[in-house]
Amino acid sequence: MAGDEMLESLIHDVADWPQPGVGFKDITPLLADPAAFTEVIDRLAGHFIDREVTKVVGIEARGFLIGAPVALRLGAGFVPARKPGKLPRPTETVTYDLEYGTDSLEIHTDAIEPGEQVAIIDDVLATGGTAAAAVELVERLGGNLVGLGFVIELGFLGGAARIAGAAHTSLVTYR
Ligand code: AMP
Repeated sequence: MAGDEMLESLIHDVADWPQPGVGFKDITPLLADPAAFTEVIDRLAGHFIDREVTKVVGIEARGFLIGAPVALRLGAGFVPARKPGKLPRPTETVTYDLEYGTDSLEIHTDAIEPGEQVAIIDDVLATGGTAAAAVELVERLGGNLVGLGFVIELGFLGGAARIAGAAHTSLVTYR
């Protein structure tokens, strides 16, 4: 199967989960397929390979699963952006809107040195609130954001507009 077709066939649509009206994109079949998982990591890492990235920020929780192997592939460090109360040392915090509810994102204040080249990785770009919060966290710490990478973009939710100042790439886009 060709790349994009293989990835799409391994992204399962779950209607009305976790609440009515949400079409949830389940990537667990993709993660369970070594060829597809490898392709995802290779393509996202390939996008940033010439950008001298020193830190990859992965967004809790599925962004960890994608961001950590991308970081290793780039020879960069991995930085978790976590839900409130999970990180043990001083943090920066940003509160944002989700497709379903509101939440906050935190990052350790010493996780990124000013001037570091930073990429942000998550599984899905939906409304863009989460990604915009991650961008703000990186900027507050003085990181130089080279771009964001997503496995999936729900284009019809317009999330790209929320991160309009930053370059982003998505492997599979639903319009
Ligand atoms: P948003 O802030 O609306 O862009 O939402 C992005 C975050 O919520 C990502 O971390 C996704 O994991 C999750 N998310 C939002 N909508 C969906 C969806 N339809 N399917 C899967 N994950 C989603």
